[in-house]
Parts: sequence; C-alpha cells; structure tokens
Amino acid sequence: MKMQRRTFLATAGATGAAGALGFLGLDLRPSAAYAQQATPKKGKVTTTICPYCGVGCGLLVTAADGKVINTEGDPDHPINQGSLCAKGSALYQVPNNERRLTGVKYRAAGSDKWEEKSWDWALDRIAEKIKATRDETFQTTDSQGRVINRTEGIACMGGAALDNEECYTYSKLARALGVVFLEHQARI
Ligand code: SF4
Repeated sequence: MKMQRRTFLATAGATGAAGALGFLGLDLRPSAAYAQQATPKKGKVTTTICPYCGVGCGLLVTAADGKVINTEGDPDHPINQGSLCAKGSALYQVPNNERRLTGVKYRAAGSDKWEEKSWDWALDRIAEKIKATRDETFQTTDSQGRVINRTEGIACMGGAALDNEECYTYSKLARALGVVFLEHQARI
C-alpha cells in the first residue's frame, strides 16, 4: 500500500491507538499492553523536558526511595505525544549513573588538579567574574560617539533544557548586562 508520509502521520495522530496501525500490517497491541504493565505502580510521577536536543520532548519521571525508577514519554505533551527517540528513552541512565557528577569541580588556572567546591562558592565565583569582566569591557559609546552601552567581553548561550520562561529570564539578564553575543542551541 502506498501512503504519503503526511497521510501516515495524520492517520496515526488522529487515531492515537496502537491498533490503528493495522493498515500497515503492524499490530502494536501487545506492545501497548506490555507498556501499560511495565509502568510502575509505586513512586511519585513528575514531568520534565528531555535535555538532549532542541525538539524538547516531554517525559514522565517516576521516583521512589530517592531514585528514578522509570522514565517514559508523556502522552499529554504536545510535542512528542508520548513518543521518545532512543536517546530520550535511555534518559534514566543519567540520574542512575555512578559516574554522574553531582557537585562542583574546580580547576584553577595553571593547576593540574580538580578541587571539590560548594554550589554557593561556584555561584559567588561566577558572579564575581561576570562583574569584573563587564566592568573591564563595558562600552558606553562607539567610535562615532553613539550610545551603545554594551559589553563584548561576555557571551551567553542557552540550551534545550531551558523552558520558555527560563529563556525569557536568561535573555533579560543578558540584555540588562549589555551582552550582545546571546545564542541558543535549540533554535525552536
Ligand atoms: S527524546 Fe529524542 S528527539 Fe526528543 S528531545 Fe530527547 S533527544 Fe530530542
């Protein structure tokens, strides 16, 4: 059977049921039944956004006893409607990973050693560096005397894990500092 991609997506989206793919000779009902069984019956479920790419798929995360015990696509999320790619499906490996860094590591200029630091120390250090760099590089006028009030000494970059409100706040902060090199990896 010949079918355009657009027709396929429209049909699959309209039905939203595993059995609806029968026209392709696929019977997904066993998979759907297994997925329902596999959903944990305990723990607290919260929603989150996949941090890996700019698509921004939504996930349901189940945690119990201080540990993530399940992640799956959020069927109510408007972007992915329950689906996840292979990377997003493996997201539970991020929190449940003995190699995950959970604290601040600092290597001073010229040093060959990493030091453990507190989050408060890191925030203060970042604030001090931003302030010093801005003070040193702030330009009030350009070469023709026009007011510009900007710094070219700092660049800011957002990422796919930031939601709309965080991006809005982040861009306001950057603009208030006079940052002109402001970018975002997701571009959505
Ligand atoms: S699940 Fe896949 S497509 Fe969706 S945001 Fe994550 S990496 Fe991107």
